[in-house]
Amino acid sequence: MVEVILLSDGYFFLDMGFLVYGKALYYGKLYKAALKPLLVKTGDEVVLVDSGIGELPESFKKYYKTERTQPLTSSLKQIGIAPEEVTAIINTHLHMDHAGNNRLFPNAKTYVQKAELQYAYNPHRFQKMAYVKEFLEGLDFITITGDYAFSDDVEIISTPGHTPGHQSVLVHGECDYIYCGDIAPLRENLERRNIVGVLFNPVDALESLDRLRQIEGIHIFAHDNEQVTL
Ligand SMILES: [Zn+2]
Repeated sequence: MVEVILLSDGYFFLDMGFLVYGKALYYGKLYKAALKPLLVKTGDEVVLVDSGIGELPESFKKYYKTERTQPLTSSLKQIGIAPEEVTAIINTHLHMDHAGNNRLFPNAKTYVQKAELQYAYNPHRFQKMAYVKEFLEGLDFITITGDYAFSDDVEIISTPGHTPGHQSVLVHGECDYIYCGDIAPLRENLERRNIVGVLFNPVDALESLDRLRQIEGIHIFAHDNEQVTL
């Protein structure tokens, strides 16, 4: 039986314009964005989908204010999981608010799109402040290209647009769960068909959003602070 548990790494604050594209009302409005890694326990794997923001380097702290009253490690402890038990991390992408705690899991292999890993080390200047290279050092990467069957219960779906190598995760549990990542950071992205505000390629982002909209099940929104349980 597959277990699916929504975790927390606290919150960070960002302009709502980063979350929904072209909605003038949202520009200049601060949003308390939830950081929501997902735990998936299958028969033989303990999988984390994204790892939150972690402890940012000083140079990044002036740009991103965080509120980590419940960091990921304590969120995991609450459900009786030690960092050593995590066998895999699937990163939707490598922005600092999704890969910030990867380093805390010594036995985990990190599944990421090849295009994403390449971009993380060589981003355009407009995405430079989203990647923290220190967060990626020493990780045991498994790079994939396109869709990938992680196991019978967990499918990785290629959803580029927010970044070149963004991916989403479909879990066949009690029902189907779709971890959207930053293709739909908020519920309204999915329901109103509004793409995310931070973009590498808006057309890809819209196609990826449409792909996720077509999958039936419970969608999980990476930063929506109203969705706290599944
Ligand atoms: Zn994000």
